[in-house]
Amino acid sequence: MSFEVLIVGAGFAGLYMLHRARSLGLAARVFEAASGVGGTWYWNRYPGARCDVESMEYSYQFDDQLQQEWRWSERFATQPEIMRYANHVADRFDLRKDIRFNIRVVAATYDDIGKRWKVRTDDGVETSAQFLVMATGCLSTANRPDIKGLENFDGAVYHTGEWPHEEVDFTGKRVGVIGTGSSAIQSIPIIAGQARKLVVFQRTANYSVPAHNAPLDPAYEARIKADYASFRARNSLQINAFGSNLPRSPVLARDMTPQERRAAFEARWEYGGLFFLGALGDLLLDKQANDMAAEFVRGKIREIVRDPAVAELLSPKQVIGCKRLCVDSGYYATFNRPNVRLVDISKSGIDQITPAGVRVDGASFELDSLVFATGFDAMTGTLLKIDIRGRGGRTLREAWEAGPRTYLGINVAGFPNLFIIAGPGSPSVLTNMIVSIEQHVNWIADCIARLRAQGRASIEARPEAQEAWVEHVNAVAGRTLYTQCNSWYVGANIPGKKRVFMPLLGFPDYVTKCDEVVAKGYEGFDIS
Ligand SMILES: Cc1cc2nc3c(=O)[nH]c(=O)nc-3n(C[C@H](O)[C@H](O)[C@H](O)COP(=O)(O)OP(=O)(O)OC[C@H]3O[C@@H](n4cnc5c(N)ncnc54)[C@H](O)[C@@H]3O)c2cc1C
Repeated sequence: MSFEVLIVGAGFAGLYMLHRARSLGLAARVFEAASGVGGTWYWNRYPGARCDVESMEYSYQFDDQLQQEWRWSERFATQPEIMRYANHVADRFDLRKDIRFNIRVVAATYDDIGKRWKVRTDDGVETSAQFLVMATGCLSTANRPDIKGLENFDGAVYHTGEWPHEEVDFTGKRVGVIGTGSSAIQSIPIIAGQARKLVVFQRTANYSVPAHNAPLDPAYEARIKADYASFRARNSLQINAFGSNLPRSPVLARDMTPQERRAAFEARWEYGGLFFLGALGDLLLDKQANDMAAEFVRGKIREIVRDPAVAELLSPKQVIGCKRLCVDSGYYATFNRPNVRLVDISKSGIDQITPAGVRVDGASFELDSLVFATGFDAMTGTLLKIDIRGRGGRTLREAWEAGPRTYLGINVAGFPNLFIIAGPGSPSVLTNMIVSIEQHVNWIADCIARLRAQGRASIEARPEAQEAWVEHVNAVAGRTLYTQCNSWYVGANIPGKKRVFMPLLGFPDYVTKCDEVVAKGYEGFDIS
């Protein structure tokens, strides 16, 4: 089989890439490991899974009719609703006929002479394509920590990122949740409501702000839909590509009185969601400003959680926002329930998993079910699982030995015609990802169209442009507090992974740069 464009993944990136490729008249095909579309929202079916970006913003904007006709029911959409949306898009644009499900890409090798990618799938078949687009996702390889004895556990084991399709009912069960990141914070209140007993094993306490989720206000929906384009345009000027309803304050902490700061924190806490980080102009730039916001949240935790020892254990000490801020519905209050226990594993870790449960520091916790909410090998894990070989047989793993290196987060020197959607070095996970995905897909599709119009066969980043870009990404991060935590943004959750800040901060500047590169005839790329 041979195609002009081969796309790996049928999440939001792969779906839109397929649509754009087909609109250009290209023979395109998607390979997807899952049995359906939706990517993240196909795999992450854990209780409470929900979007942290508001529904009216976490959706495609490429087709006005689509955004006008689709109706979200809540301010923050649930996983099932986002899945319905992904399926609606696939049907509406008749995408399924060019998607092969239940097939995993295991290897991709660039043929220097034929200037084509040879792609091998797990059924042993080889497919060739001129352009290979990796729409494989930033958070699509579950991180399963290697804990002694796990294989001996007698109960059921789940990972939030690979949740079963059939409903999991914890009623009457003793459940252990390992991890306290975003997925844990969303699922713990719901699991606690079902389980007889819930034990939460916490390595690092995380900051979470309330979602204040509610049914979507029809008047608000109508107002946005009356001029959706302007709303989208305003959002794309925000540093994270969302949230123009309540933009980041331009005022620095030191230019406010303590009362003004308190009022700003309080107002954003009440508003709900990730907007909290915009309370001060320098919240993510200045440690003192950050400390004020962090202390405000710790104060809230102390107000909510009745047992002072538990409140203290739940109170994060690190910089707020440099690990992904979590958004919850009743997380901290869940620890007031008599059936919930918090266990600190920050010092000794988990000794081992036994047939009956989990042992920590000599103490045993008997459990029927174990939930790993331990996140992902983010941004690079899924790409590096595929044996990708560029010019001269060089593997992507070799090229990224010192951490991921890309130009614009889109292409890697030595890997012609390989495009990555929302790759490391692009704003990706620091943004409303659908916006970033659409921007990347448009850039890639336009690039392919231009190459074909000019009768050119390949495009590839120049090594010096790539080096300068990697330096730029690091320099931008270095001016902020983002680099100060052991976060998955720097790969710290995966043992042995190189510590490199992977995403680029600042969506508007990034878009300007991408446009400039095109205006200057694909500056920094070799085209042949
Ligand atoms: C729990 C959770 C909550 C999130 N919340 C938000 C949020 O609030 N706001 C936000 O902007 N973003 C959020 N995200 C990020 C989310 O990943 C993106 O918003 C978006 O869905 C990514 O789409 P994608 O198509 O790029 O990747 P994905 O949705 O990850 O899709 C990638 C697809 O590629 C497939 N694939 C991977 N490797 C292969 C292979 N070798 N062969 C075949 N198929 C393969 C996978 O099966 C998957 O279906 C969240 C992520 C998670 C995990």
